[in-house]
Amino acid sequence: MLFSELPLANPLQRAIRAVGYETPTPIQEQSIPSLLEGKDLLGIAQTGTGKTAAFALPILQLLLDSGKFRAPKTCRALILLPTRELAIQVEECFKQYAQFTAISSTCIFGGVGDASQKNCLVRGVDVLVATPGRLLDLIGQKAVSLKALEFFVLDEADRMLDMGFIHDIRKVVALLPQKRQNLFFSATMPDDITKLAATILRPNPVRVEVAPQSTPIERIRQELYRIDKRRKGALLKELLLEHTEMKKVLVFSRTKHGADKITRVLEKAGVKCAAIHGNKSQTRRQEALKNFKDEKIRVLVATDIAARGIDVDDVSHVFNYDLPDVPETFVHRIGRTARAGKDGIAISFCAPDEEQDLRAIEKLTKIKIPEGDKAIFEKLPPPQKETPESEMRNARGRGFPRREKPAQNSKPTQTPPKAPKQQPLKTTQPVQQPKPEQNSQRPQNSDHHKRRRNRPGSKARRRMRESSNIPN
Ligand code: AMP
Repeated sequence: MLFSELPLANPLQRAIRAVGYETPTPIQEQSIPSLLEGKDLLGIAQTGTGKTAAFALPILQLLLDSGKFRAPKTCRALILLPTRELAIQVEECFKQYAQFTAISSTCIFGGVGDASQKNCLVRGVDVLVATPGRLLDLIGQKAVSLKALEFFVLDEADRMLDMGFIHDIRKVVALLPQKRQNLFFSATMPDDITKLAATILRPNPVRVEVAPQSTPIERIRQELYRIDKRRKGALLKELLLEHTEMKKVLVFSRTKHGADKITRVLEKAGVKCAAIHGNKSQTRRQEALKNFKDEKIRVLVATDIAARGIDVDDVSHVFNYDLPDVPETFVHRIGRTARAGKDGIAISFCAPDEEQDLRAIEKLTKIKIPEGDKAIFEKLPPPQKETPESEMRNARGRGFPRREKPAQNSKPTQTPPKAPKQQPLKTTQPVQQPKPEQNSQRPQNSDHHKRRRNRPGSKARRRMRESSNIPN
C-alpha cells in the first residue's frame, strides 16, 4: 500500500511527501482507515513503529473534514504524553504533517514558566500536546478548557502509569466531553493498563498490535567505564550520587566478598543498599529482595548465583561491577533491566585485566559498548597505592586463579585460554598488623588453595560448578 492510496487530503499528502514517507508502516496501515471511520483505537505499539503519524494523520484529516473552528481557550484534539521530550517530539510531527493546512498546534509541559504557553492558548488551538500536570494546572487557571474536545489520545500509557500519572489522567478524563473519539497507545498491556483503557475507550475499539518487542539487548542502553579495579567503588558511588534517576539499581559482583565490600562503600556514602549472596541466610536474602522491590533500598548488590531467584520487573539500571568471564552471563545480567517493554540502562566497569572478557561479550552480543562520560573520572579520588594486602584483596577470586570456563560452554573457542590474571603474591610480608586470616600458617594463594579448590566434593569446587550454570 502507498500513502497516495489512503483517503487523505492533498495538503496532507503533500506533507507526507515532504517528510519523505512513501509506504505506511504496519501500524499506520492498520490504524488510519479505522480512525478515518471515527472508530476508537487501542494501539499496542512502541515508539519507532511510526505510531505518531498513525494517529496524527487521521486526526488532521478529520479536523479538516469537520468544518468546525477552534474557540478561544479551547482545543479540538488533545494528545497526552508523560514527558516534555515526547510532547515536544509529537507536536513537532503535527507541525510537519499540518504544514500545508491552517490547523494550529501547541505544546504545554511543566518545568518552565507558563506565560508563553497561556498566550498560545488565548485564541484556542486545534491540537494541544500536553503533559498531565501542566495541563491540569492551566485548566485550573482557566487558561484552557476541554469542553470542545473532539479527539483524545493517551500515548505511552504504560509509561504514564510508571511515572505515577494515574490520578492526573483520571482527572483529565473526568473533564472530557462524552462525545469524542479516543485513541489509546501503550507498549505493553498489563492488567492496570487494560483497566485504564476500558475507562477511556468506547466499547469494542479497534485493536492494533504491531512489532513484537525487540529483544532486551536492543532495548538496553549500554555504557562502559574502563577503570582500575581499586577505583570501581568510588566510581559506582559517584555515579549513584550524581544520577538520582538511578532508582532501582542492581549491581553484579563476581564474588560474595566483593558484594559485601560494595555495600560497605555505598552505605558509607548514604546510599540505601543490601547484598544478596550465598553467605546470607534465605531470610536475609528475601528481606533484601523485598526491600528492593518495595524501593526501600535503592541498590541491590548480588552475585550471579544469588541473582537467579530475582524477579523484579522494573530494574532501572544494571551495573556490571565486575565483568563475568562467561559472556552469556552478561546477557542474562543486563536482561534484568528493560523488562516488560521498559527501557533500561546497563553500565559496565572494565578493569585492565577484564579486557578479554569485554571482547568476548562484545563478540557474543555483536554490540560495541560505547564508553560513558569520562568527566566523571575527574570527580574520583586518586587511586591508592597498591599494597600486598590490597593486591590480595582486589585480585580476582581473592587470590584464587581464574575460574575455568564452565563445561557446558566448553565449545572450542578461537581465543586461547587465559593465563591466570592475578599476580602471585610476592613474599613481602605486610608491615601492618596482620589480619586474622593472614595469621594463618598457610601462605595466601599457595598451591594448597588450588588443591583444595579442585578436591572432589569441596565447597570451592561445588561453588565453581554452581557458578558455571547460566541462570535463567
Ligand atoms: P514514531 O514511532 O512515530 O516515533 O516514528 C518513528 C520514526 O519513523 C520517525 O522518525 C518518523 O518520522 C518515521 N516514520 C513514521 N512513519 C514513517 C513512514 N511511513 N515511512 C518512513 N518513516 C516513517
